[in-house]
Amino acid sequence: STAVLLRRRPEGEPRPDDFEIVHRPCPDPEDGQLRLEVLWLSLDPYMRGRMSAARSYVEPVGIGDVMAGQAVCRVESSRHPGFAPGTLVLAGSGWCTAALSDGTGLIRLDPAPAPLTAALGVLGMPGLTAYAGLAEIGRPKAGETVVVAAATGPVGSAVGQIARKRGCRAVGIAGGAEKCRLLVEHFGFDAAVDHRAPDFPARLKAACPNGIDVYFENVGGAVWDAVLPLLNDFSRVPVCGLVSQYNATALPAGPNRVPDVMRAVLSRRIEIRGFIVWDFAHRAGEFRREVGTWVADGSMRTLEHRVEGIERAPAALVDMLAGRNLGKVVVKVAPG
Ligand code: NDP
Repeated sequence: STAVLLRRRPEGEPRPDDFEIVHRPCPDPEDGQLRLEVLWLSLDPYMRGRMSAARSYVEPVGIGDVMAGQAVCRVESSRHPGFAPGTLVLAGSGWCTAALSDGTGLIRLDPAPAPLTAALGVLGMPGLTAYAGLAEIGRPKAGETVVVAAATGPVGSAVGQIARKRGCRAVGIAGGAEKCRLLVEHFGFDAAVDHRAPDFPARLKAACPNGIDVYFENVGGAVWDAVLPLLNDFSRVPVCGLVSQYNATALPAGPNRVPDVMRAVLSRRIEIRGFIVWDFAHRAGEFRREVGTWVADGSMRTLEHRVEGIERAPAALVDMLAGRNLGKVVVKVAPG
């Protein structure tokens, strides 16, 4: 089998050669074990954090260890009473083509209602992130304006579409004209703004004539700087991710902005709250029912960026962090 190991911890932007591709046999399962064939590997921005030794909400991947990740897998052979060969599961297999498991943490997948890769995107971890972060912290009310960046990605595209279903005006921020076109034409956002445009702050203001009631924070940096003056009294900011900062090695140039942010928080009574998706695991059942219905009836659109072959995963992760992806990034590891 093939596996992708972490070779070294990147400084700044990661490079494909921070990873090492190795070929080695995957042993036969022993009693109580099963062997997984990896079909689809998910690539997600949090993986940048796993490459670093900095303190976070989970342990980093060790140097020389298989890179961490979730995948759709098929049970290839089994000596585990609970899993017959052929069963489809969601597993934390890591970046590899085959892995042994004792069954812990495996989630059975039903292939019928949606394509298998939906379990890695709209009906999986990113979908729950959008659904629960918006519901618990954003708490959008009909008629309000909801803004989200990285808006063509699996989290942002779900945030915008759910906001519209709740009767809100959804404004998406993305990099480049093609992504902005997709936001309106494919995902149905009310407006789209290109964060690379030189007059981005003015364009964002024009797209939010009534200010911003919910800013679902995915990126931080210059986008946050443009959002802050537009936040309304009693607005809510679920802090989900700061992808513009994940490769940063130093503080941004310019004055310390914290005092201004705190003044705005106080005077406009802005609620800013960070979360990790598993804080809202109790919402998973409701999420699967409601979003599952929307996916099935076609009213929740998705966009997938497919990469062929596990050896392409390192470059695809680097590309995603730089915005060179169009939708949820999945790696096709074996024919599904
Ligand atoms: P995406 O597929 O949206 O990929 C990341 C995107 O970030 C890129 O495509 C790019 O889009 C955007 N981006 C990168 N750099 C910048 C920048 N400097 N300024 C603005 N945008 C930038 O990823 P996901 O939908 O999977 O994740 C979105 C966010 O949600 C991430 O921050 C992620 O860490 C977070 N997350 C948090 C979870 C939690 O539990 N808190 C769980 C899951 C995700 P563009 O080209 O449009 O700029």
